[in-house]
Amino acid sequence: MEFSRSSQAFAEAQHWIPGGVDSPARAFGAVGCDPLFIERAAGAYLYDLDGNALIDYIGSWGPMILGHAHPEVTAALEKAIQQGTSYGTPTLLETRLAQKVVAAIPSIEMVRFVNSGTEATMSAIRLARGFTGRNKIVKFEGNYHGHADSLLVAAGSAAATFGVPNSPGVTPGTSQDTLVLPYNNAEKLLQTMEDVGKEVAGIIFEPIVGNMGCVVATEEFCAALREVRELYGILLICDEVMTGFRVDYRGAQHLLKIQPDITTLGKIIGGGLPVGAYGGLREIMRQILPSGPVFQAGTLSGNPLAMTAGLCTLEILEKTNPYPYLEQLSAELAAGIAQAAKKHNIPLCVNRVGSMMTFFFQEGPVYDWETASRSDTRAYAHFFREMLHRGIYFPCSQFEALFVSAAHREEHIRETIHAADTIFAEMKTK
Ligand SMILES: *Cc1c(COP(=O)(O)O)cnc(C)c1O
Repeated sequence: MEFSRSSQAFAEAQHWIPGGVDSPARAFGAVGCDPLFIERAAGAYLYDLDGNALIDYIGSWGPMILGHAHPEVTAALEKAIQQGTSYGTPTLLETRLAQKVVAAIPSIEMVRFVNSGTEATMSAIRLARGFTGRNKIVKFEGNYHGHADSLLVAAGSAAATFGVPNSPGVTPGTSQDTLVLPYNNAEKLLQTMEDVGKEVAGIIFEPIVGNMGCVVATEEFCAALREVRELYGILLICDEVMTGFRVDYRGAQHLLKIQPDITTLGKIIGGGLPVGAYGGLREIMRQILPSGPVFQAGTLSGNPLAMTAGLCTLEILEKTNPYPYLEQLSAELAAGIAQAAKKHNIPLCVNRVGSMMTFFFQEGPVYDWETASRSDTRAYAHFFREMLHRGIYFPCSQFEALFVSAAHREEHIRETIHAADTIFAEMKTK
């Protein structure tokens, strides 16, 4: 496949936009080639500037669970756009989407819509602090919660230090109240909370991590989270921006039997438009302005187009229940690629929950950042480029999850497994 138009477009973009992209993960920095510029998308496919069709396993990093340009979502948006694109007033659409979210996720009694996952987690942290009157926040290594200052600590990086910021521009003052602990380490969590638990407002976590590759919280770890919540009155903030409506209609919290105090959402609930949300128990949510004192606002929050896309997406998910189908296709993909790797003696550890998964180039097991980072990222980069040349769009980093959508078909899965098998065979002989 030829990608020269994308490369030209990337060169031009780099002159006007830092790094040529509006979000760093898109720049293909970890895989040694230029990013593809996409012109349009439909179903399971992306179409780039060179006219290539690619089977898409990213789905805009999570939102497109129904596939691209779903006809019903598109029709709903076309209708909505005729009615004006933003009013800065309340709309019925917001109430309807709120009702859908509350009906789906029992721990949420009220929900506030914002414009991105970052806004959702940032606001959830503020709410937890405002509600408890405490300052400290706990997060886990390799968990990504967006780019708010206080959460930009050990966000998928190897730094496991107490409150050392990840990025220039994040002051020590901002990050010193963020305590970073290893993921899936119940003992460390219990021990640390023995010392500082009474100062901790909230623990924010990805119930199934997507942002160091796919890693699931262990039962023991979930039990420890429940325990410190009880013991020290710490709010559990379950970041389901990626997992919400992805692994189950009721979220990862249903699968893991966690009852968080606050849940953050995004991605799928916007159906491909910019949306985030945070919700929880009425008692906590009522602390938000104007019903309470915790400030949070947004000019475009609850935007009618975004609400329409989200509402339509959730309605289709509810109506069609694609989750068993997604499970079946995803299991097939995971097993097929694992088998191909085994056949060619390529060490591969596959982590998967429903339609999100990661192929770690190592023996495994992978259960935290430390173990994830043992992966052979050079082998992954090679694999990625080879897949791309065969028209298969995988995550451009070893440490990102891939997604199967309801628009994927058996033949896409078979083609993908076949491509991986061919690449593994060549890798072995090198
Ligand atoms: C994507 C993501 C975010 C950030 O959402 P944005 O819309 O990119 O700001 C936060 N938390 C998790 C778990 C995510 O996957």
